[in-house]
Amino acid sequence: MFVIDYVIVHELAHLLESNHTPRFWNIVRTQAPPMEKAKAWLKENGQILEEDV
Ligand SMILES: [Zn+2]
Repeated sequence: MFVIDYVIVHELAHLLESNHTPRFWNIVRTQAPPMEKAKAWLKENGQILEEDV
């Protein structure tokens, strides 16, 4: 499921870059092509999965 993939990539990208910098989003974008779709889904379905510590 694309959202799961996105969340995993997102969390893994945080291992490389802890903040939501342009560099961070570049990492996510290269690893998860359907990122925009996943972000839209998460926006619709709440923030539960987006755990930024
Ligand atoms: Zn994050």
